[in-house]
Amino acid sequence: MITNMKHIKNKLEAKGVKPTYQRLCVLKYLEKNMNHPTAEMIYENIAKKIPTMSKTTIYNTLNLFLENGLIHAVTITGTEVRYDINTFSHHHFLCRKCGKIVDIEVKCPFCDGEITQINGSKIEEIHGYFKGICKKCREKNNKVER
Ligand SMILES: [Zn+2]
Ligand SMILES: [Zn+2]
Repeated sequence: MITNMKHIKNKLEAKGVKPTYQRLCVLKYLEKNMNHPTAEMIYENIAKKIPTMSKTTIYNTLNLFLENGLIHAVTITGTEVRYDINTFSHHHFLCRKCGKIVDIEVKCPFCDGEITQINGSKIEEIHGYFKGICKKCREKNNKVER
């Protein structure tokens, strides 16, 4: 527990972000919950343990993390921002049925760093969004049909 917090503190300090208690809590939550939560989900869960945590603080903290490259914003649903602690380039799959967003590994020359520019423009962030029905939901469907 203590070592866990220390590693999170180091992560903040490495980016020049002052490690306040609130910031440590939000980053720790994101590390433990890699399901690409919304700000609302983060707020609800943290407020259970720390009732003094306000929604504004959560939003400000997330924006600060985004600016400093500690997290990435995933906008796959088009209606909400989901937050991702995994800042390495990777793609996402959204299940239309259960709403789950998962990381997917596909062979990608952009993610692999083989292509770093397009027409002279330097690529800094890569997002590939795939949508459909996940394996679990497909299996559930098949059972109902039979
Ligand atoms: Zn699903
Ligand atoms: Zn992700």
